[in-house]
Amino acid sequence: MEILSPEAELHQDSFVFDAHCDTLGYAVAPPYQRRDLTQWGETGHLDLPRMRAGGINAQIFACFPGLGYFGGNATSGALQRVEALYDLIDQAPHQLTLIKSADDLAQLTSAGPIGAILGLEGVEALDGQISLLHTFHRLGVRNIGLTWNCRNAAADGSGENTQYGLTPFGRELVEACNDLGVMVDVSHLNDAGLDDVLEISRRPVIASHSNARAIWNHPRNLSDEQIRAIADGGGVIGATFATLFLRQDHKNATLEDLLHHIDHLVNVAGIEHVGLGSDYDGTSVLPDLASGEKYPIITAALLHRGYSPASVRKIMGENFRRVFMETLA
Ligand SMILES: [Zn+2]
Repeated sequence: MEILSPEAELHQDSFVFDAHCDTLGYAVAPPYQRRDLTQWGETGHLDLPRMRAGGINAQIFACFPGLGYFGGNATSGALQRVEALYDLIDQAPHQLTLIKSADDLAQLTSAGPIGAILGLEGVEALDGQISLLHTFHRLGVRNIGLTWNCRNAAADGSGENTQYGLTPFGRELVEACNDLGVMVDVSHLNDAGLDDVLEISRRPVIASHSNARAIWNHPRNLSDEQIRAIADGGGVIGATFATLFLRQDHKNATLEDLLHHIDHLVNVAGIEHVGLGSDYDGTSVLPDLASGEKYPIITAALLHRGYSPASVRKIMGENFRRVFMETLA
């Protein structure tokens, strides 16, 4: 019998839910270098073997509009990413399964396949049509990030220096997501849009990969007021490993900075409302957490920081699992 350290045992025993990666971009080329996600890659952050080694049980795979920003068609770019996930599941059905319902999520076990949740990061792919939300829902998309950093038909992203809230299409979209049981994700949204989402949404919303502005005042991070409002609505905020959102001199970011953000999110939102969203394969991440197999380091660090095992489990994934169980039909 293998003897595990208390930290390793807690990690193995925890349900680990990562709320954001851009890995599907690497299964679709160009503009990225294609990788075989069934194999442990020498580059990039995440693939099936590294997810397994990191003890990840559920993963949101974002479909970034990709081609929409690189001179192509966003709908095509998103559909290619959806197909890439289907293809990966076909190649490794015992390792990965698509999560479409609360039942699917409830049935995940640590020995069984990892649960994949499809998401859109920006709704460019919907082409301003609610009917296409239904199409993407039929295909399994269950998390909708309204924007990336730019303006689209629904809202303005956090990279736009504007005070505009949701467009009529954006409002209709939030209501349609509520009706369908699709999670609304406010990471990347500008402040006015976030206020509108919180006012309109009848269900909890998440910020899949955002940190705290009180620690590093970046437009992609959340104010204490926003953190509180997301938590009050029953939602969850995923602290992200992306160095850009950890500290101003981001090249010097360390695990300690992530822990600092997590402490602050927990203090403001409460322990029930904080999770993790790595942003693996989306940007530069913490060197300490350079790729998926490093995930157990976070469990150990939280435990050493004084979080109880029950609290560590909540942050590692129970909170995100709960809110998706509530939202998915
Ligand atoms: Zn992002």
